[in-house]
Amino acid sequence: MEHRPPAVPGAGHAFETRAVHAGRDDLAALGTHAVPIDLSTTYPLPDLPGAALALDAYAEGELPEGSPIYGRLTNPTVRRFEDALAELEGCEAAVAFASGMAAVTACLLAAAARGRRHVVAVRPLYGTTDHLLTSGLLGTEVTWAEPGGVAAAVRPDTGLVMVETPANPTLAELDLVDLAAQAGEVPLLVDNTFATPVLQRPATLGARMVLHSATKFLGGHGDVMGGVVACDEESARVLRQIRFATGALLHPLAGYLLLRGLATLPIRVAKASASAATLARRLAAHPAVERVHYPSIGGALVAFEVANDPMAMVSALRLITPAVSLGGTDTLIQHPASLTHRVIDDTARAEGAIGPNLLRLSVGLENEDDLWSDLSTALNHTSTPSRTRVPAGV
Ligand SMILES: *Cc1c(COP(=O)(O)O)cnc(C)c1O
Repeated sequence: MEHRPPAVPGAGHAFETRAVHAGRDDLAALGTHAVPIDLSTTYPLPDLPGAALALDAYAEGELPEGSPIYGRLTNPTVRRFEDALAELEGCEAAVAFASGMAAVTACLLAAAARGRRHVVAVRPLYGTTDHLLTSGLLGTEVTWAEPGGVAAAVRPDTGLVMVETPANPTLAELDLVDLAAQAGEVPLLVDNTFATPVLQRPATLGARMVLHSATKFLGGHGDVMGGVVACDEESARVLRQIRFATGALLHPLAGYLLLRGLATLPIRVAKASASAATLARRLAAHPAVERVHYPSIGGALVAFEVANDPMAMVSALRLITPAVSLGGTDTLIQHPASLTHRVIDDTARAEGAIGPNLLRLSVGLENEDDLWSDLSTALNHTSTPSRTRVPAGV
């Protein structure tokens, strides 16, 4: 499939320009340059009747003008990040949470609040998302569907269709236009963590809700956790009501760091994707690599299956860090069957094609030849002429 760059949101300026300026457009008028961080948990309320009316609006999930009143209702620094991300995803609004999983939880609670506890989902999903759905911890019931079987799996009590593309960890891709058509009236929730709005804007393809683990590419430096859902204002109101009532807030310092991350998102994703594409090609040509998965839309992640012991390969790396998470400035590698997708059962791993020899590489901003030298040395170190396979079930 040929990659077509997604349409540019907002009027006038290109995506990378908006990535730098979104959420900051009023700063010059305020006579400042860097984004102010507001750490207030409470605000003075000299106008008591006005504050009481504003509270009514907050309780409805609205964002009234004037005082934020209390830190659990809204925060000006977090608001800037939300507005910027909404703009970059081409959505009316965005609601930020303490983590990606807090954002997933809020979406499930929002569906349940409408009496719709049934979810149709396509595997693979991020391991903890799969676990949250399968375990029934939130009282949801899930039907796992093939990409072509989503419409058939939808029931009158279906509240969400949930997908990831490219998916964690196999980088499998889905046709979002087709899935949105299959979902019909049911909101399609797309986890866009891997693609980022630089490579794909699901809302322009029919998704009602676009979710991010902001911990990954949006923050981009491995030092802040957060989650965010970009959507229409009506859905955002419900998510704000849930956040207000359940308290899974994004801290203002995290909001500051995430907004700062957005400014360099296009350039980081472009650089890491270029290196990842090169590494994917070189890996595919290496005799110790059985299979390489690299998305047609590009991106900083490469999944590959090694012929020999994946653990031995990972322990032979010197520059690349063995660690979970992704989307940071440095290159990380992990073994999904042992780590990110350990919490799900064997059926789920089989359905998601998460094999025992699969490794997931998150390419950072290092020089690609340095990365290849580390990878190829480790692969050579662990290859044997007999190409002994590790036993299944590792
Ligand atoms: C990491 C991740 C999550 C969960 O996000 P946290 O910020 O760790 O809670 C959800 N979806 C995907 C695709 C992820 O990679």
